[in-house]
Amino acid sequence: MLDFISPDPVALHARLRPGALACIDLSGDRRWSYRELDRDIQQAVAVLLDEGVGRGDRVAVLARNSVHQVILQQALMRLGAIFVPLNWRLTRPELGQLLADCTPAILYTDDDLPALPAGCRGASFTGFAAAVDAARPAPRPAPHSGHDTCIILYTSGTSGVPKGALLTSAFLLATGVNFNVLGEVDTGAVFLCDSPMFHVIGIVTQIWPPMLRGGTFIVSPGFEPERTNDRLGHPAWGVTHYFCVPQMADALRHAPNFDPDRWTRLKALFTGGAPNPPANIRWWLDQGVRMVDGYGMTETGTTLGMPLSPDLLREKAGAVGLCGPLTSVRLVDEEDRDVPDGTPGEILVFGLNVIGGYWNRPEERERAFTEDGWIRTGDIGCRDKDGFISVVDRRKDMFISGGENVYPVEVEAALREHPAVREAAVIGIPDDRWGEVGRAYVIAAPGHDPQAEDLGRHCQALIARYKVPKEFVFVSDLPRTGSGKVMKHILRREAVDA
Ligand code: ATP
Ligand code: MG
Repeated sequence: MLDFISPDPVALHARLRPGALACIDLSGDRRWSYRELDRDIQQAVAVLLDEGVGRGDRVAVLARNSVHQVILQQALMRLGAIFVPLNWRLTRPELGQLLADCTPAILYTDDDLPALPAGCRGASFTGFAAAVDAARPAPRPAPHSGHDTCIILYTSGTSGVPKGALLTSAFLLATGVNFNVLGEVDTGAVFLCDSPMFHVIGIVTQIWPPMLRGGTFIVSPGFEPERTNDRLGHPAWGVTHYFCVPQMADALRHAPNFDPDRWTRLKALFTGGAPNPPANIRWWLDQGVRMVDGYGMTETGTTLGMPLSPDLLREKAGAVGLCGPLTSVRLVDEEDRDVPDGTPGEILVFGLNVIGGYWNRPEERERAFTEDGWIRTGDIGCRDKDGFISVVDRRKDMFISGGENVYPVEVEAALREHPAVREAAVIGIPDDRWGEVGRAYVIAAPGHDPQAEDLGRHCQALIARYKVPKEFVFVSDLPRTGSGKVMKHILRREAVDA
């Protein structure tokens, strides 16, 4: 029995507002109204049926951002098949592992990306786009359950090997609604989408909210700080919403053409996916840009978000806000008891926006969920008296120095307040006397040459002595995931191997 039918916002808007601009693809400078997008999705259904794709089949794509990824995702969803976007920055062996995991019926690849190991049927993604253009629309497939898996989205691999999260269309709907309510998205919304589509920000958070509302999404081939600055300021597009990880926002402000006065219709710059230090948020507010931090993960989509009020953003800088309407959050201790306000606890999430489990990994589901279905995020959070939640750190990144818990995110925020520091990543390393001590990897701000003693003194004025790193390593970059997050497990491994 069906209790919830897979939603189809494009089909709805093709009737409600057929001529409205659905999307622009910047790589081919092509536009689709909702009527045209709906038609192309049905033409893609015809292409996929011709290829023999059926319900439950996986179709993987290894390609730069394009509207055709959205068309493919929507067409597979109509068919009850599964879209698997892969990170093209991974190495061939890493990709080989993911392909062996999800065993796609077809792997579509951009023509300029290297061919992949045998074992699955490869095809050109440009060829797919051309076939969609040439096809005749297929009849609409029969409806199916909104609880069927429609995307396998691999986690970022920040803390280890990526896991294939099973996203349903109920998940996509719920995370879209959460974002639309928290982020004040209306039918006039224009999203600029240049986060990679293989990340939850990419195919979920920057596409589904405008699509649910019948707004516009502008898809760029990828993030490039100077171009993105120009796109945000494009007078004819009038971008209202932009979502990125904090590292991307940082790159925007350091690009030579940074000029937020040009972002005249931008409601807010939304960040998520990695810690955003309070001082950084205040800096953006001083430029007249509302920087709105929110919390989510591949497994939960958009979960928490700050309101857009500039006063609250300033007062609560460092918080990730309140729950979206389709979600509940608890903070618990090691025995799963709720902790009082002001006490750190693990963030548990429940709601339609939570995955069903992981592909091929039933044991991960056991580990990740409580008996009554709350997902354990592995993140430590803290709730203030007004109900606003802050992310303290990942549980795995915390270390213990002289018996005291150190949360590297707090130390990194302190370091970031030094004018000579552009970015810092702190890990715990073994120490004979203290058990563990902090080591900070520091990227200097342009034109600065920070010194260890000076940074140590600076930290001592801001945080307790046991939290101050004992070692500083100056680097020009850090190991990162495809979406720009720092992979601390690699730093820890290198520190131990050295
Ligand atoms: P993996 O699970 O493979 O190690 P990952 O956890 O980085 O990778 P994602 O699902 O992309 O994969 O990221 C979700 C994580 O990002 C959260 O669990 C949390 O640790 C972090 N995160 C998300 N939003 C915020 C935020 N606003 N502030 C701090 N950390 C955040
Ligand atoms: Mg994770």
